[in-house]
Amino acid sequence: MWRWGGVELTCEAMEFEVPLTIECVDCLGTCHRLPREPEGGFAPGEVIPYRCEDCLDRWDIQFGPEEAHP
Ligand SMILES: [Zn+2]
Repeated sequence: MWRWGGVELTCEAMEFEVPLTIECVDCLGTCHRLPREPEGGFAPGEVIPYRCEDCLDRWDIQFGPEEAHP
């Protein structure tokens, strides 16, 4: 069970998409999601690390509804 802000989330709370790739804001290359998916999927507000294949920069992108943020 994944915990967020001391609250146990149900599966319904995790229905949001985390893309496998994003566009690099520096070189417009393709950033690939690092393989670090927790059991049961990502929690809302989770910070997902990406690595750009062109400039090798790492991007930590936060997904999910802002309301989930304390
Ligand atoms: Zn890049």
